[in-house]
Amino acid sequence: METQEQKDLIKNTIEQAKLNGILKYLPNGELTHAPFSLSPYAMPESVFEKMAELTVPFNELMIKVSRNTDFLIHHLEPIAAIDPFLKMLLKCRSKEINQNCQLLIQRNDFFIANVKHNDYKQNTTPTNEITEDSVLRQVELNTVSASFPFLITRLYQLHKNLFEQNKLPKVIQNNPLDAVVDAFAHSVQNYGISDSVILVVVQSNEKNIFDQIGLQQHLWIKHNIATVRKTLVEIHKDGKLRQGHLVVDGKTVALTYFRAGYTPDDFPEEQAFKGRQLIEASSTIQVPDMGMQLSGMKKIQQVLTKKEVLADFVTEEISRRFLKTFAKMHTLDEIINTPEGEVSASEWLSNHADDYVLKPQREGGGNNYFGSDILKLIPTIKKEEQKAYIMMEKIQALPHSSLQIVNGQAETLNCISEIGRFGVCFAENGEIKNNLDAGYLVRTKARNVNEGGVCAGFACLNTITGFD
Ligand code: ADP
Ligand code: MG
Repeated sequence: METQEQKDLIKNTIEQAKLNGILKYLPNGELTHAPFSLSPYAMPESVFEKMAELTVPFNELMIKVSRNTDFLIHHLEPIAAIDPFLKMLLKCRSKEINQNCQLLIQRNDFFIANVKHNDYKQNTTPTNEITEDSVLRQVELNTVSASFPFLITRLYQLHKNLFEQNKLPKVIQNNPLDAVVDAFAHSVQNYGISDSVILVVVQSNEKNIFDQIGLQQHLWIKHNIATVRKTLVEIHKDGKLRQGHLVVDGKTVALTYFRAGYTPDDFPEEQAFKGRQLIEASSTIQVPDMGMQLSGMKKIQQVLTKKEVLADFVTEEISRRFLKTFAKMHTLDEIINTPEGEVSASEWLSNHADDYVLKPQREGGGNNYFGSDILKLIPTIKKEEQKAYIMMEKIQALPHSSLQIVNGQAETLNCISEIGRFGVCFAENGEIKNNLDAGYLVRTKARNVNEGGVCAGFACLNTITGFD
């Protein structure tokens, strides 16, 4: 039972969250606060540091991969043959790169698990404590539309205020919002056209709009940079090329920030495809460019878990650090080594569905298959479609108790937390000029929930505690 003091804390914090723009729309159009936790996620400093130190080398990896067209085509073209969406994305890519500057804003998501090496069969029973032996497991790298820099920065400030009033434990400093808008401002300045704007590519029915307009507002307040919001269809209608520049509503677009364009729904008609191509053909700095977006595909993540593939992009020392964080990943058409000998991946998956997540080449949440849904799906996948699906070992994240506040209701649940590190990297013609870790995102969700979306209502925004 909650004490009166707790009830007051919950009630007041909900109002503060609303006051500070920690908001979202419900499917019925009603406005509510974004789900948040009142139990900062405790983790040891050693694990926190290890995670933060991976950001810079992962940024470098993604810049390199994104510029290796042959590599991307080699791995993605066979899938594009059976996946019209991927085929269309590949067609959006210009033959040559028309931009001198690259800006990558990505988020690398992890769980903390307690099994040294999550092997095919887990022989060890994991304990529920985070220890020195706890391992980081990468979920995925989000290279397109890495969300929540605004909402999470605001939640950090709220949690910090509560700590200062002895109502929460001390939380670890976090400000991805400043890092992201500063990187945008630096890029716009580098583009060198006065009075230029940032184009934000949006979905027409965005539920997470406050994370975006909060960032736009901050860009204006801190750097006096104006932003224009448009869907891909509107960009086709209102945009044109002028001497290589993208011009929208009469303004030169120095930078185009994609918060859409990663799902087939964002391409309802041919005009959207043309809008995307128009952007790609111009010299606007794209966050992300098509190469970066393609580098974040599940297929690319899977091939990069192979030591010999990774070796083409990073040093041995970095490779060793990366490999420790990778869960096992295979395509469904592979023959894999198991304790029972060599078997087809799809057959193995049929017998071990609960140990894996099955992922098609899609972004944005809600596309993956778990448990019994995997079993229903497998028989419907044709032989030639198997290569489009990636099976990924299910990460057994460490559970903890958390007070979750969703749409005005508070509930203490047995939860797991997914931690993302924001990475910002600026390059000129592929040469890295500025590369940094930009803070964290925590999403805490009930343990029995598979997917992770905050605006879909699955997970609560959270901060980190546990050390000074
Ligand atoms: P998307 O690109 O759609 O966001 P993700 O790969 O990030 O896809 O998966 C969505 C969510 O599913 C994650 O946020 C996480 O909660 C869960 N998930 C994904 N992969 C795994 C995994 N290997 N083990 C456990 N949970 C996972
Ligand atoms: Mg994701």
